Amino acid sequence: MNKQTTSGEETDIAKSLVHARHRIHAAEGQYDRAANSVALLAVSKTKPVTAIQHALAAGQTDFGENYLDEALEKQAALTDSECRWHYIGAIQSNKTAALAHSFDWIHGVDREKIARRLAEQRPTELPALNCCIQINIDNEPSKAGILPDQLPALCEVMRNLPNIRLRGLMVIPAAREDFAAQRKVFAQVKKLFLEQQAGTPEFDTLSMGMSADIEAAIAEGSTMVRMGTAIFGARA
Ligand SMILES: *Cc1c(COP(=O)(O)O)cnc(C)c1O
Repeated sequence: MNKQTTSGEETDIAKSLVHARHRIHAAEGQYDRAANSVALLAVSKTKPVTAIQHALAAGQTDFGENYLDEALEKQAALTDSECRWHYIGAIQSNKTAALAHSFDWIHGVDREKIARRLAEQRPTELPALNCCIQINIDNEPSKAGILPDQLPALCEVMRNLPNIRLRGLMVIPAAREDFAAQRKVFAQVKKLFLEQQAGTPEFDTLSMGMSADIEAAIAEGSTMVRMGTAIFGARA
């Protein structure tokens, strides 16, 4: 191998992915989770197409994006790739058609109007759109997501909509330094998840944990962690 053909960026991303997977597997082992029960979503927002290509080359297929226009540009540059695209940003109702056409997953559904628009606008020739409901677990006014007491009603609506598949819950808790405090809030989300799981086929995804707190999230039942910084480095 000619070392000059491998960029520093490529090596760094491949190494970071190995390290991220190692953290996930170590936490699965430590907290009695089945091996490979936690999926890795690589959050590539603000990072260039080349960064996604390097991650793809290192075996990563699921990518998370927060900004629609940026994501559409990247998708256009990667049409022949194996990428599965997850939208994890805030959802404006005038953007639902583009989201319904261009993504495999939407993590932040938080109101009935959005759910209905996604269901109506998802092209029927595509597989059903995988959706998670975002929970505002700390009741933060600045954050998207529904309050826990609104969850049963939204699940009921979404279970019955065509072209979408209600897959689970997503949460972004307020930052906490303390591991026990991180676990406590993730445990609250897990409880809500289990309450809805019985009546909802294919409700199997708990999207929780980011670069700084995946261990606490995995300890409390996360099935998908969303890691940006730990894979691609700090964002500008
Ligand atoms: C940016 C972002 C992430 C990734 O955060 P890191 O701390 O960089 O791992 C995860 N989830 C959501 C919803 C985000 O917006």
